[in-house]
Parts: sequence; C-alpha cells; structure tokens
Amino acid sequence: MRFFADFHIHSHYSLATSRELTPEKLDYWAGIKGIKVVGSGDFTHPGWIKELKEKLAPAEAGLYKLKNEYKINGDSNTRFTLTAEISSVYKKLGKVRRIHNILFAPDFAVVEKISSKLQNIGKLTSDGRPILKLDSRDLLEICLDVSDKTLLVPAHIWTPWYSVLGAKSGFDSIEMCFEDLSNHIFAVETGLSSDPPMNRRCEFLDNYTLISNSDAHSPEKLGREANIFNCELNYEAIISAIKKGSSPEFLGTIEFYPQEGKYYYDGHRKCGISLSPEETKNNNNLCPVCGKKVTLGVLSRIQQLSNRPASYQHPKQLPFHSLIPLKNILSAYLHRGVNTKKVTTLYHDIINKTGSELEILLNFSVNDLNTLLGEELADAVYRARSGNINITKGYDGKFGEIVFF
Ligand SMILES: [Zn+2]
Ligand SMILES: [Zn+2]
Repeated sequence: MRFFADFHIHSHYSLATSRELTPEKLDYWAGIKGIKVVGSGDFTHPGWIKELKEKLAPAEAGLYKLKNEYKINGDSNTRFTLTAEISSVYKKLGKVRRIHNILFAPDFAVVEKISSKLQNIGKLTSDGRPILKLDSRDLLEICLDVSDKTLLVPAHIWTPWYSVLGAKSGFDSIEMCFEDLSNHIFAVETGLSSDPPMNRRCEFLDNYTLISNSDAHSPEKLGREANIFNCELNYEAIISAIKKGSSPEFLGTIEFYPQEGKYYYDGHRKCGISLSPEETKNNNNLCPVCGKKVTLGVLSRIQQLSNRPASYQHPKQLPFHSLIPLKNILSAYLHRGVNTKKVTTLYHDIINKTGSELEILLNFSVNDLNTLLGEELADAVYRARSGNINITKGYDGKFGEIVFF
C-alpha cells in the first residue's frame, strides 16, 4: 500500500497547550486523500500521552487511529505512530553537544518504560520535547534496552545549533556520536535546509536512509516534508522500510526547496547579512557589519564534511519531489504575508474545492490547475513544481522567500 508519513512535528504538547493542536486536528493533513501516517510526537510528556491514550484506539499493529467520537471530519484515514523528540545537552570530547533525536516506539507499554527511565535523568513535564543531560548514545542504549522494536533517528542533522552534525554543537560523523551503537542507526532526518543530493555528497552517509519530516509548528504545515512508503500498513513494516531505505518499500521523500530553509546560507540575521560559503571564507567567517563570527549554514557545513562535488549524482538516489507549500505560493502571488487573512481565506477556498493540497502541488495537470485556479495562479503552482522560480536564500534563522512575479 502506498502512503505518506510525517513522523516529526515540532513539539505537539507545547502547541497543544497554546490551543493550536489536538490529536483531532492532526487527523487531517492538508486534506490528503488516502492513508497517511502522522507521528504522535511528545510521547515522553505525561499530559500529552494521557490525551493520546484517551483519544486513540489501536488500528493496525503498532499504529493508532482517533476514536470515532473525536473525529472532526468523518471517515479519516490518518494513522498515528508513537514518536518523540529528545533534546540532549551534554559534554563530550571537551565540547558541549546539543543534539535532537527522534524516537519511534511500537506501543504505549514501551513508551511508558522509556519515560520511566528518562524521568530519572531529567524533567519530562516542562516541555513536549524534554531537554535532558543525556548522551545521545546512552539515549539509544536506553531505547534498545526497553525494546529492540524502537528506532532512534537523529533529527534535522545539519541544523547549526541542535543536531548530530551541526556546526555549533554537533559531531563530524555519526560514529563519533553513537560510538559502539552506531550500527543501530539506520536513518537520518535531512531537515528543511538540505535535500537528498546535498546529503549524498557525504560518503559517510551512504549507508543511511534519508528521511524527511515537516517539523511543523502548526497543523497546516504538516507534510511540508514527508516520506512515501509502499509497504504494509503496520509499525514493523514501516520501521523495516526505513531501515532498508529503498524501493519497493520506501519510495523517497517530499522536500522543501533547501534554499527556503532557515539555515541554508551563512550570515547574521541581526545585521541583515547573508553569505555564500565562498563569501564566508573570503571574510574569514566574520560578519562584514559587526565583525563577529557569522552563523554557518547547512551548505557550508556540508561542504566542510563532504568528499564529493555539488554535481555528484548518487547511483542509488531515490526520487524526491520538491514542493512549495500552497500558502507560500499564494503569499507570493498576492504579495501578502503567509499568515494574513487574505492568504488564509484563498487557501481554504481552494482546499475546500479540491480537498487536497498535495494533489494540487504534485499531481494536478496544467489543465486542471487552469480551471481550478485561473491561469496566472496555475502558472505559479506549475512553476513551483518544476523548480522554475527564484528563491532568496534562508540564513541564520530567516526563511528564504519565493519570488514569482
Ligand atoms: Zn528538533
Ligand atoms: Zn553581524
């Protein structure tokens, strides 16, 4: 069965407490038809896990679905898998390391065992994504001790501040981080600011499956990056497809254009300075305005650690689809902010007509787009799909922007 999966949404619990997110709201995913799998997130938080237990019922082995009384839009095809993100902050090899990892668990019993071990290490109640003074390797060991069905995937691996390969507080390889347990790492999350070809420039990542998740901060951003599976619909089949990382079970990913990501280029947001890796080198890593060190972006970091040129094409490269979220396209089209009323209203009008953002972005023919959206907007969607667009590059926490018109 072919289906989409987005395993990592930015802390559900903190979103839930700001009343933005509930399991019910996760039950739609930008209107995608057919089966989709969403990570529950935050399984270490007692408040969120209580809500999940109350609202979810077992579905296929290791997957859950909303109970009927909580469904918002009738016959839902959403499945939940139990996931969490842990922020590990610790000293290793003389440096402070700040690393985010995503955990996958097969059922609530396993989740409870992991949480009961982690609560001896740090506070699980202050955030949906707990910050623990815990070596990533030891976190992996705890998960494997509880159950060999768990999976740990390093999150957004190139983000400068909080990732396994990050320029500020990461390592130079997966092995340096996970040491003797490295062979239990099967996949890495590429994050918004990098796409598969950028990662494949690093030979040391050849044996890892590249997965993509939205890390969404609001429900409508679910699926802005995602994975495409073609396997049985159950937890073990999904995990085994991730581990194998090739077709026919794992078909590839849906990607942000990396230039749009918040950490693609180098620079200083406060000083309004955005630099390419070459410009940064020529400036000795210093900001031409304030003279301090710039924040190195993902492209620079990949160049540091890679042993292959930018043009390198990996023979086993899986297909991937670069998308621009419909709201961002509308924002550029209307010359209005992404979160303005005008953009939101048009977005919902279109979704109500079509039922599916991803269908529009990926599959609708030019003719269908013309009929549905009018020629000018249809052209924008089509150009976004084919990559025929300009993007001002993201840097130092500032998203890149699309320029169409
Ligand atoms: Zn994170
Ligand atoms: Zn500066």
